[in-house]
Amino acid sequence: MWRMSADPIEKLSSLFERFPGIGPRQAQRFVQFLLRSSPAIRRELMDGVRELGSSVHQCPECMRYSAGNKGLCAICADNNRDTGLLAVVSSDGDLLALERSHTYRGRYFVLGGLISLASDKINGLRLSELTTSLSQRADAGLQEIILAFPANPEGDATAIRVREELAPIGLIHGFKVSTLGRGLSTGSELEYADPDTLKSALDNRK
Ligand SMILES: [Zn+2]
Repeated sequence: MWRMSADPIEKLSSLFERFPGIGPRQAQRFVQFLLRSSPAIRRELMDGVRELGSSVHQCPECMRYSAGNKGLCAICADNNRDTGLLAVVSSDGDLLALERSHTYRGRYFVLGGLISLASDKINGLRLSELTTSLSQRADAGLQEIILAFPANPEGDATAIRVREELAPIGLIHGFKVSTLGRGLSTGSELEYADPDTLKSALDNRK
């Protein structure tokens, strides 16, 4: 459990410590930065956080967070995107990395995480949301699902598990399931891969 201090500096610092990958020293540095910042910058930050609650929603099709109050995100609403391809990614960040590479013109589904090797848990992953959407996607022309997970042990474990789940459904509906090729160096996150690497990983999928 998180203990909340009455000291505003400690309190904000412990809030920053909840962020992924942020330790106490970095959290302290954020607070020090804000203390030195102008009220205008602090207000901008507060407004930005507040707008996440009021002006952002989850796209009902790909499940990523996107601006606006309801309806499909810009990618899912784009009729020029190829409905024959569906890339399953772990996070919004990985989706955006594929978008930045300008090599992929299909649709997406954000699984919302990876299987943790420590627990082998799939809790919290949107696996049933994905499987229930497949018959409709097949009607829309789905040919191939590309499992686009990071090249690390969690990514590999997730790909195995998701493939087990999807392959039988693919047999019924006539789509195949592929994984990204190893253009990605081992251990690399999609988010930090350069566009050429992502392109070769996509081209070499199997
Ligand atoms: Zn979407």
